[in-house]
Amino acid sequence: MTDAFIDSTDYVDGNALGGALRQVFAVDVTNAQGRCAGCGNVNAVGTTHVYAHAAGAVARCVSCGDVLIRIVSAPDRMFLDFRGLSFLEIPVPDGR
Ligand SMILES: [Zn+2]
Repeated sequence: MTDAFIDSTDYVDGNALGGALRQVFAVDVTNAQGRCAGCGNVNAVGTTHVYAHAAGAVARCVSCGDVLIRIVSAPDRMFLDFRGLSFLEIPVPDGR
């Protein structure tokens, strides 16, 4: 990760992933807490920095800039890569 990329303001917040993630998850994942596998920072998915200028969207850690989530959508499928997270804690409505 270069400092120039981390300093870039050419991103939106992680709430931009809400629509895509809502297609495959029954709950709102933007409220989920994820831990960066790179630096250990824990934040809500909705607070990540999302770069959506390529074929898909890339969510980066607000602390170290490492890639946390990649999402690529095709007409009939979606590719999800969460390897940048060491965990994702998803709130379950009503404790279900
Ligand atoms: Zn990090």
